[in-house]
Amino acid sequence: MESLLEQYAHVVGNDVIDHLRQLAYPLKGMKILHINSTKEGGGVAEILNRLVPLKKELGIDAQWEIITGNRDFYQCTKKMHNALQGNQESISDYLLKTYEETNHENYERLASRLKEADLVFIHDPQPAPLLRFCNDKKGKWIWRCHIDVSHPYRPVWKYIREFIKDYNASIWSLSTFVQPLNHPLYLIPPSIDPLSEKNIDLPEKEISDFLQTWNIKKDIPIITQVSRFDRFKDPIGVIQCYRLVKNYVPVQLVLAGGGASDDPEGQQVLDEVRAFAGDDPDIHILELPPDAHRTINALQRASDIIIQKSIKEGFGLTVTEGLWKGKPVIGGDTGGIRLQVMNHHCGFRVNSPEGAALRIRYLLRHPDIMEAMGKNAHTFVLENFLITRHLREYLTLIVALLYGSEETIELTLPVHE
Ligand code: UDP
Repeated sequence: MESLLEQYAHVVGNDVIDHLRQLAYPLKGMKILHINSTKEGGGVAEILNRLVPLKKELGIDAQWEIITGNRDFYQCTKKMHNALQGNQESISDYLLKTYEETNHENYERLASRLKEADLVFIHDPQPAPLLRFCNDKKGKWIWRCHIDVSHPYRPVWKYIREFIKDYNASIWSLSTFVQPLNHPLYLIPPSIDPLSEKNIDLPEKEISDFLQTWNIKKDIPIITQVSRFDRFKDPIGVIQCYRLVKNYVPVQLVLAGGGASDDPEGQQVLDEVRAFAGDDPDIHILELPPDAHRTINALQRASDIIIQKSIKEGFGLTVTEGLWKGKPVIGGDTGGIRLQVMNHHCGFRVNSPEGAALRIRYLLRHPDIMEAMGKNAHTFVLENFLITRHLREYLTLIVALLYGSEETIELTLPVHE
């Protein structure tokens, strides 16, 4: 049976895989621990799910743990998330105390692993205080920020910064997100995995079965947004846009999403979306379980246009997923969407429901342009946003952090077994 790395070689070529093996060589047996706050739902879990097994296959002792908390903890971290993305949020002392105490409890549970790891990657603000409790750490700690912190609500950033500043380094998705800190700052945009259930090629039959199951018509264009039900994803704006398009051409809208276990606002937003959609038979709201990867894959492939009308977006893996499937993407002109949706090349960036509707109508009128953009989209992801590029940058960062002060670093290409 082919190894995971051999399977990737079919997509990206042998040279790319050899390069990964070379970079991983000095890291063999190293203990690397990733910590975030959910195993399913949202982009971070999606990435770790694939990155950790690949690191293992390269001989690195990579592990992934989550921190857990009660309702107050998640309420606090959701408020932090919203504040770091620019909302004015006041967070009570009680919630902040819960946040710190929950991290302390999680630290006690994970202490031996955290102390002995050569590298600890802490993802996003939820587990950021863990470092504070680790007095006798062996390895280096890196904070990985996945959200758009370009214009944070200052009081909340100042509070979080006190935890972040003690890390050995931090990683950001875009240069515009970076906040001044006195440690090395790295830029690494996220990626998708072409071999995951979410992204592998699917038989045509599976795609048409999907449409039948959900009562979605085959012969009317399908516009799709896949997202957690979160106000920053602007699902209401998507429905407004759909209505503006529908005044001129027949079209169906699919809003697919579910909750993440660390996101307490999802149900409320979903209720608002359902109420706003009313009983329009051409709006399909698909509430999906967190492991519905193949369903989302089929939906993205069945769609004519992917929309991601976010008003704030850390990166937007759903955009990458749509592009990879050869679909033009209409994306909100914000955050990581700017890195992915090149105007007129693989889609359009928009600032309003009206702008989105205009671009969708244009594309539906020009199927040839839609097809050409779809091809560009796939190539763009192949060259820039696959997991192999992501892993290469992680490995380079780790080698630099661990061996950067040495005069030479031995990067040997191991003999293929
Ligand atoms: N996703 C999913 N089920 C859902 C909603 C989203 O599997 O109901 C996936 C989606 O396909 C993507 C990730 O979760 O891979 C969302 O990542 P993104 O960066 O777009 O947004 P985030 O949720 O991290 O803000």
